[in-house]
This record gives sequence, structure tokens and C-alpha cells, in this order.
Amino acid sequence: MLESLTPAEQVLSILYSTLVEYVGHAEKLKLHGDKNFIILVGLQGNGKTTTAAKLGYYLKKKFNYNPLLVPFDFKRPASFDQLIQLGKTNDIAYLDLRNEENVKSALSKIKPYMEKNGFNVAIIDTAGRKEIDIPLMEELKLINDYFEDPETLMVMDVTLGQTALDIVKGFKQYLNITGGIFTKFDSSAKGGSVLSFRYVTGNPVKFVGTGEKIQDLELFDGDALISRLLGRGDLKGLFEKAQEAISLEESEKIAKDFESGRFDLNDLKMQLESLLKMGGISKVFSMLPNFSNIKIPKEYMDEKALKRMIAIINAMTKEERAHPEIINASRKERIARGTHVSKAEVNQLLKNFENFKKLSKNLKNLDISKFRF
Ligand code: GDP
Repeated sequence: MLESLTPAEQVLSILYSTLVEYVGHAEKLKLHGDKNFIILVGLQGNGKTTTAAKLGYYLKKKFNYNPLLVPFDFKRPASFDQLIQLGKTNDIAYLDLRNEENVKSALSKIKPYMEKNGFNVAIIDTAGRKEIDIPLMEELKLINDYFEDPETLMVMDVTLGQTALDIVKGFKQYLNITGGIFTKFDSSAKGGSVLSFRYVTGNPVKFVGTGEKIQDLELFDGDALISRLLGRGDLKGLFEKAQEAISLEESEKIAKDFESGRFDLNDLKMQLESLLKMGGISKVFSMLPNFSNIKIPKEYMDEKALKRMIAIINAMTKEERAHPEIINASRKERIARGTHVSKAEVNQLLKNFENFKKLSKNLKNLDISKFRF
């Protein structure tokens, strides 16, 4: 146990770092060349149209792109009006394709319009329905397949619970989803749907919506999400503290011991504990090439034996640990009784201690230049 953290804090810290790694971090939008296509897909009411405008604003203001908003839900005129209104209010261009005959002919107009007017990114706000239906999915697939290497982002309400999993699966069946945007981060402390999204698509969540206003779009931050999910304040800080504790309290001391080649049983105990934490010495050595010339006592390979050795050292007095030479027959007997082991085992540990000293000297004299990586 690290002195500066309670066991509960250590467990939380491990859980936290594992989940942060799982949800990942925001990745850049897939934008390259002079014509880019961002297709937003998702169910109705999840915030797709609002997000389309937010993205246009973000790309224009922050990165000087010249974005074009393209409303594309031909069955819901209200959705057209909503995006066009957002474009007008925020000075972002839009393309009104309402009079086109069908989806295909509408699609064919986008690229030429961009070329003619110098737009370098089209943000296509596709149709959304209350639930997944096949005609909708086929239409989305048509759009997704029409463009070469588009950025197809799924827009989802972060407050969706268990249903998120099936919704993402439904979309993934038809589309090549390249990333996600989660909306309404400001209105709930939920976030499990992000885990579902990562689980199904394996792709990054790129942005989060944090309000109804045009500028309320932020890069996704895995740390913040997991802190929120676990309902604790500064988990990131806790994790950093745990890392610091390991590196400062232990590595420095171990490094010093190895350099000096001189240490007592306290040091041996600390090293055994570190070995245990790293998965035993065989694991450590398996990562290093050319170690076959070093003889390692087999006790150091076995987790149970490592633990028993630590228990024996724990049963010793402070003085005995600092000066192993004072451990005479009666002291050995007392230690053996205290640890429920035989005297022979205590003797073995003291012999191991000598071996360990030698091992440490061997390590000290290793010639790194002979390694082949
Ligand atoms: P669509 O049907 O998927 O196009 O969804 P809309 O863009 O029309 O959004 C539905 C509602 O959610 C609207 O009232 C939006 O203002 C609201 N909304 C969208 N994104 C956010 C967000 O990040 N935070 C909050 N609080 N509301 C949002």
C-alpha cells in the first residue's frame, strides 16, 4: 500500500485510469485537401441540427475553414428551416436543396456548389427519425457511400441510457461511423452511452455539446467524463498522485540501493514488494533481452514465495532488519513462530538476502551496450 493513499483511493485510481484509457480522447476531425464532407447522423431530437450549426461555427471561427451547412431531411421541412435560420443568425453559409427531385440529385449538387463558391467543408445534416427504420438507414447509407472518405459522425444525447447500445449497433450495421458527438453534457451527469459507443464502434468521440448556444461545443475529454461517471471530484489528481507515490517513494530508493550495492532487509522487503507489483521478476526479466547469464534464485520467480518472504521480514524488529547479522538462533525461532514458518525458511530468507545482494551487484555491472533491441 502506498502510504499517501487509502486502499479505496488506490482502487478508484486504477478504475479511473482504466476507464479513461477505454473511452480515449478527442481526435482531430478527418479534414484534408480542399473539399471535406462531414455527415451527421442520429435519431431525431438528439441535437443533430444544433450540432451541425455549432460545428460550422467552430470550424469557421477557430480554424478559418469556409463551411457550408447542408440540411438534408427532405421529409421534415421544419428541420430545413431550423438549420437555415441558424446559418443566417450566425453568418454561416447554407445550401437549400429543397426543390431537388430526390436524394441522389440533391447529393450531386453539393460538390459543384462548393467548387463554384470556394467552400472547403460541407456539413450535411441528415434525416433523423424517432427510431431506427430501414428506409431511413438505406437513405443514410446512400449518402455515406456517395462521398469519398467522409467523416460520418453519430450525434447522440448523452442522457440515453441502456438504449444507446442498440441505437449505435443499428447505425453501425449500415454506416461506416468514424466518430461520435455527444450532446446535452450540461443537462445531466450521465455518460454511460459514451462507453456503449466506444464498445460498438471502437471509434473516438470527438466533441461534446455543452449547451444550446452556438459556441457550446467542446472537444471531448475522457478524464472529465470518467470523473463525472464515478461521481468523484479530482480523480485525475488522485491518479497522478498514485503514480507519483510509486515513482517517488520507491523508485528513487531502489535506484539508490542498486547504485550503492549496499542495503538491508528493509530494502529487500521494498524490492520484493515492487517485484510483486510488477508481476514478479520473471515478468520484468522477460522484457529485457540477454538476461540468460544471470542466475536468479527461483524464489524470486514465484509470487507466493515472494509474499512469504515479505511476511518473514515483517515479523522482524526494526533493528534486525537494519542489521541482519544480529539475527541469532533464538531470534530466528521467534521470527519463525511469528510467521508460522519453519526456522529453515527463515534461514533460507537470510540466504536469499545474501543472494539478492549479489544479484543487485550483477545488475549494477550490466553492460547495456551489449544489449540488442
Ligand atoms: P435533432 O432533431 O437531432 O436535429 O435535434 P435538435 O438540434 O433540434 O436539438 C433538439 C433539442 O436539443 C433542441 O432544443 C436543442 O436546443 C437541444 N440541444 C442540442 N444540443 C444541446 C446541448 O448540448 N445542450 C443542451 N442543453 N441542449 C441541446
